[in-house]
Amino acid sequence: MVSLILKAGREKSLLRRHPWVFSGAVARIEGSPGPGETVVVIDAKGNRLALGAFSGHSQIVARIWSFDPDTTIDTHFFHDRLQRSLTRRPAFVENTGVRLVNSESDGLSGITVDRYGPWLVGQFTSAGAQLWKQETARILVEMTGTKGLLERSDGEVCAQEGLPESIGPLVGAAPPEKIPIQEHGLTYAVDPWHGHKTGFYLDQKDNRLLIRDGCIGMRVLNAFSFSGGFGLNAVMAGASHVVHLDSSAALLTQAAQNAHCSQLPDDRFEYCKGNAFHKLREWRDQQRNFDVIVLDPPKLADSQAGLQRAARAYKDLNWLAFRLLARGGKLLTFSCSGRMPADLFAKVVADAAVDAGRDAMIQRYLGPPADHPVSLAFPEGRYLKGLLCVVD
Ligand code: SAH
Repeated sequence: MVSLILKAGREKSLLRRHPWVFSGAVARIEGSPGPGETVVVIDAKGNRLALGAFSGHSQIVARIWSFDPDTTIDTHFFHDRLQRSLTRRPAFVENTGVRLVNSESDGLSGITVDRYGPWLVGQFTSAGAQLWKQETARILVEMTGTKGLLERSDGEVCAQEGLPESIGPLVGAAPPEKIPIQEHGLTYAVDPWHGHKTGFYLDQKDNRLLIRDGCIGMRVLNAFSFSGGFGLNAVMAGASHVVHLDSSAALLTQAAQNAHCSQLPDDRFEYCKGNAFHKLREWRDQQRNFDVIVLDPPKLADSQAGLQRAARAYKDLNWLAFRLLARGGKLLTFSCSGRMPADLFAKVVADAAVDAGRDAMIQRYLGPPADHPVSLAFPEGRYLKGLLCVVD
């Protein structure tokens, strides 16, 4: 087997069971591994530490499969890992959208698989994940009794890893254009072929439920609404008026269809296509008010260098939201940028409140649901953080 020999002292993160080996930590490679091939990682003193998948085109030159160097990375290995992932998941009963495999946090770096009713949709975003995707898909479809697994390996992660985009059925039949799912009694149509990520934001499941608290008679702004999630829950819980704001007209149409399929009254919803940064400013100038505001922007920090710029954008958005909130109003504000640390995000929101001249308190710290576990060894897995703030 090909060996990856680390520089002296560069074994520390592996001893803490962090699953990434950066190219700068490697002294030399003995052999010439192909993409995704299993390599053994050895420290400068000759201790065998772990087995990982080689990736010559990535800054992360190896992603660890196992910290037991005497194990074998084969079909049995993936069978066991996938079985373990599935047994950790909540029962598949009333919510039919579930993340089954959460990449590093489930010990399967680069493999993300979501279940939408009778279909699976997967992303295989590392050379190792690509090498084993067919096996993974076959095992998962068999274990779950689903109709097939659609691959959605596209987007910036693939480019960063030097992988070509790959979209199409891996195992079983091809899913339809839209898959209906149930979440907390509401119906959503998921677009597995073209939708963001694998088609839906399962990571906001718990927070969408949380917005229901105290919603009766409230005027709600759901900014960055995607297919309507937060707003649908608000109306379900008695909100009098919800504005869905998104830059995509197609997604606003989807939000309206989801409201209709969920049997919610049409007259409670207003749909607004536009750039949230501009619209919120416009509404502030018009002195428009809301009792509840949700801010769930896409990832604003895509690099360490972009962090300052992202912090300014988060501050601007949250400042506008504080200006638009009525007395006693609630703000659910999120950041899904892995680069943005939770404490920095809280500071940005606090600065925004001060600048807006509002006294506010944090009522809850928000995060992902149980089917998006975060390994203690892999803090980078905690990308989604949010705050539920109440203003005076
Ligand atoms: N809260 C949603 C997920 C939001 S995803 C849920 O629970 O499902 C982020 C959304 O922001 C996407 O729908 C995207 O179309 C939209 N978006 C991106 N940039 C935007 C902008 N500048 N203004 C308004 N919407 C934007």
